[in-house]
Amino acid sequence: MGRRKRSGFGDVITTRAAFERLEARCPACRLPIGPTDSPTFVRSLGGAPAQLATMRCRRCSAMLTLRFEEEEARASGGPEPR
Ligand SMILES: [Zn+2]
Repeated sequence: MGRRKRSGFGDVITTRAAFERLEARCPACRLPIGPTDSPTFVRSLGGAPAQLATMRCRRCSAMLTLRFEEEEARASGGPEPR
């Protein structure tokens, strides 16, 4: 094991939906980031969808680690009709 990479700076916690809507932002320069910035998805074990991606901010060149969390409120659009 080598030296542990410092966590914190460059970490972006988001959801896939928010990422695709460009709601995630570079923590260094606040530039909206999204799928068009060619993120590299890190495959997780067991064939689950990738929950991590790395990319470089096109404005400030910060190395960013994206963490995709599951959306807590799936039905945020209001109560479902019965
Ligand atoms: Zn940036």
